[in-house]
Amino acid sequence: MIHKKQIEGIFGERAVFNASARKFTTFKTGGSVAVIVFPSTEKEIDFLFDLNKDGVCVKFIGCGSNILISDDGFDGIIAITRNFSSIEYSDNFLRIFSGVELKKVLGFCVKNTLQNLEFLAGIPGTVGGSIIGNAGANNKSISDVIHSIRFLDKNGFWCEKRKDDIIWGYRYSDLRRYAFFVEWARISVEKGDRKIIKENIKDIMKKRIQNQPLGYPSAGCIFKNPPGNFAGMLIENSGLKGFRIGDAEVSNKHANFIINLGNATSLDIWKIMVHIQSTIKKKYNIDLEPEIELIGRFP
Ligand SMILES: Cc1cc2nc3c(=O)[nH]c(=O)nc-3n(C[C@H](O)[C@H](O)[C@H](O)COP(=O)(O)OP(=O)(O)OC[C@H]3O[C@@H](n4cnc5c(N)ncnc54)[C@H](O)[C@@H]3O)c2cc1C
Repeated sequence: MIHKKQIEGIFGERAVFNASARKFTTFKTGGSVAVIVFPSTEKEIDFLFDLNKDGVCVKFIGCGSNILISDDGFDGIIAITRNFSSIEYSDNFLRIFSGVELKKVLGFCVKNTLQNLEFLAGIPGTVGGSIIGNAGANNKSISDVIHSIRFLDKNGFWCEKRKDDIIWGYRYSDLRRYAFFVEWARISVEKGDRKIIKENIKDIMKKRIQNQPLGYPSAGCIFKNPPGNFAGMLIENSGLKGFRIGDAEVSNKHANFIINLGNATSLDIWKIMVHIQSTIKKKYNIDLEPEIELIGRFP
């Protein structure tokens, strides 16, 4: 049970009631969320933990670029992490709080001539969301550069773990299982040449603009690549590019993207996902696993 007064007492104007999920996801879909809060201290995270222990669903969101929220909405609290926003640099390490967007991290790196993180260019997420999903591109993942992570675990203890004590996989980290909230990460960088760092970022962005439908709302790749294969290629070879339900469409530019042409619903997107999965199963006997996370009720 959500007590409005209690939440207002803690978050004041940083609590919004009955807000649309559209504003907080890159798909620009989804129904009404009971409460959206913008925590900024560990104490507030502890408060959210206690609410969660008492049965209130609490979900942290960074940029909402890897999720699909149901059109029925979310009957709990969505906590947007953007106020965990600082970056510090010393001795070849960055300590980056979870709500910092990767593009801001790269801006910091360019300014301070730090290299190693260019492969993250163009991923429209925060550090927290990227750690939970072990985001990456160009054969590198964020786990490759992590040194350690501070988080509140699901038993209510603030912990710090080194990279090697965390299980990482392709778009997977076991933090998803036991971390309630990721607060910050220590990430290793090296001094580099500003011109080269900028060139690397520019090259990656150029490829993304060429290959991805960046003019439309989406959540990036919908399915993980199955072992030894590419989800996008399987979808394209099944003739599904351009397949449309409502205002959701399999992108003609990149078959593993579903785009929102304007007024798509989360249900439209979900139906396309199901259609893709059953087509690929029939044609190749391969089960495509979603890369994005579904939040709330779907059929
Ligand atoms: C155009 C486009 C291109 C993309 N390209 C790539 C790509 O190349 N590679 C790639 O890996 N991904 C890609 N993505 C997907 C997405 O950007 C990444 O997965 C990104 O890391 C998600 O970060 P986020 O902050 O948006 O996470 P969200 O979508 O907000 O959340 C994702 C998950 O992390 C959890 N979470 C977020 N913050 C915290 C926190 N502080 N503590 C605990 N849990 C938290 C959420 O609860 C949720 O379970 C792309 C998306 C788009 C739209």
